Amino acid sequence: MTPHAQDLEAFRADVRAWLGANVPPNWRETVAASSDESFRRFQLEWLETLRSGGLLAPEWPVEYGGPGLSPEQQIVVHEEMARYPAPRLGLYIVSLYHVFHTLVAFGTEEQKAQHLPAILQGEIWCQGFSEPSAGSDLASLRTRAVREGDEYVVNGQKVWSSYAMDASWCILLVRTDPEASKTHGITFLLMDMKSPGITVKPIKQATGNQEFNEIFLDDVRIPVSNRVGEENQGWQIAQVTLSAERGPGAIEMAERLGAIVERLRKETVLRFGGADRVPAELARSLVGYWTRAQLLREMCVGMLLNPGASPAGDYESSVFKLVFASTLQALLHEMLEFADQDTFFAADPLRGEGFDSRNLLLDYLGSYEWTIAGGTNDIQRNLISERVLGLPREARW
Ligand SMILES: Cc1cc2nc3c(=O)[nH]c(=O)nc-3n(C[C@H](O)[C@H](O)[C@H](O)COP(=O)(O)OP(=O)(O)OC[C@H]3O[C@@H](n4cnc5c(N)ncnc54)[C@H](O)[C@@H]3O)c2cc1C
Repeated sequence: MTPHAQDLEAFRADVRAWLGANVPPNWRETVAASSDESFRRFQLEWLETLRSGGLLAPEWPVEYGGPGLSPEQQIVVHEEMARYPAPRLGLYIVSLYHVFHTLVAFGTEEQKAQHLPAILQGEIWCQGFSEPSAGSDLASLRTRAVREGDEYVVNGQKVWSSYAMDASWCILLVRTDPEASKTHGITFLLMDMKSPGITVKPIKQATGNQEFNEIFLDDVRIPVSNRVGEENQGWQIAQVTLSAERGPGAIEMAERLGAIVERLRKETVLRFGGADRVPAELARSLVGYWTRAQLLREMCVGMLLNPGASPAGDYESSVFKLVFASTLQALLHEMLEFADQDTFFAADPLRGEGFDSRNLLLDYLGSYEWTIAGGTNDIQRNLISERVLGLPREARW
């Protein structure tokens, strides 16, 4: 091993030991049984534990209060979190990734000083981008902001805003110039969720969870000092916010996918009474899932260590999302077919663990959010087709 690799292995051993000593042993039971309030408390306690162990926000540099890890160390942290497996910080994803990258790129010194330390203390943010008629075509958004003195007065509606019911702040896209072309009249604001005129209504999902919300905005006043970047520069800023989803967190997703494949492999061998007895068709499927999980993992490592080196360039995350979503859905479908029906609901659903809650039916239903979240699969196909392969553009009406 090179000295560098030795250091990394020592670091990995430290992270693993730390997880062993600090992940609450019964966290799955705690989270499964928790009310909204105790879930929030659990997430905050886990955030504080990670912070005290120097493992919160592995991507944040020291100047913003992060641990200042190298990309290789960040990969190790995400891999070990997934392998342990440790609880995910679902409530804080928008804060730790989207808001962080946006403020670092475009925020004022005052905005960074106010919010980045607060995020490390557990400030929860939500994202108010989508609207009833503006999802894939986000630039059609209609929530209107009119400037009055040193405030914007905002009216409109947002939808699908994850964890808005818990958030103290919201990153909000508004239309400030209705005369300009769609992408040129949008402004990016930071909205205090305690402002008068905000109504948050939860939406019940097929899984029974209520993580999404509608946000109604009725004459909400937002100080101009809460604007990120210039007026009407919001579209450009939102691209940075959305690209924050391509971070090393994807490694954790690929690892968790690999762990599900391993569970299916073990169950299969057990069910058929030995590896030699697993039917060839099932063995072929397992090899396919395992291979795709490994390729996705390698792809994430490549994205982090050699950004832009892939033939897909900036659109490698689109490739990741397409392959990840289809693999996860096919894998969970196979598990459902394979599992005894009594075990579908065997485990209590775990809040905030997405497709890895261990309640098979809910995980399967939840896996379909990957077809939609962060830009639908159809949109990713359009991007790859037009911008990577140079195929004809879709019709613009
Ligand atoms: C888990 C999850 C979390 C989310 N969290 C948030 C959040 O916190 N904040 C937020 O603002 N939003 C959030 N969203 C919303 C998400 O960004 C939108 O749902 C997504 O952009 C799709 O928009 P839409 O739902 O309006 O569907 P539409 O855009 O109306 O699409 C409907 C269908 O038409 C297809 N379609 C649309 N346009 C095209 C095209 N040009 N070519 C081919 N097919 C097309 C789509 O693929 C889809 O199948 C979240 C969504 C999910 C699933």
